[in-house]
Amino acid sequence: MTTENREKRAAVCENCGAVCAVWRRPDGKIRPISSTSGCDCEKRALRVVDALGAPDGSGSSR
Ligand SMILES: [Zn+2]
Repeated sequence: MTTENREKRAAVCENCGAVCAVWRRPDGKIRPISSTSGCDCEKRALRVVDALGAPDGSGSSR
């Protein structure tokens, strides 16, 4: 069985600003879950957004 410790995250493309769901692997690699993620960029600049639904209210140093 191939059990990858991948996490479902939200990523935003810094090129077009599209938000899509991605798998974040322990490697640090980002892989879009669906090929059609609303981003049509030739070169996607996906940036993982850590805040996925739940805003962490613990240890917020602002
Ligand atoms: Zn894009």
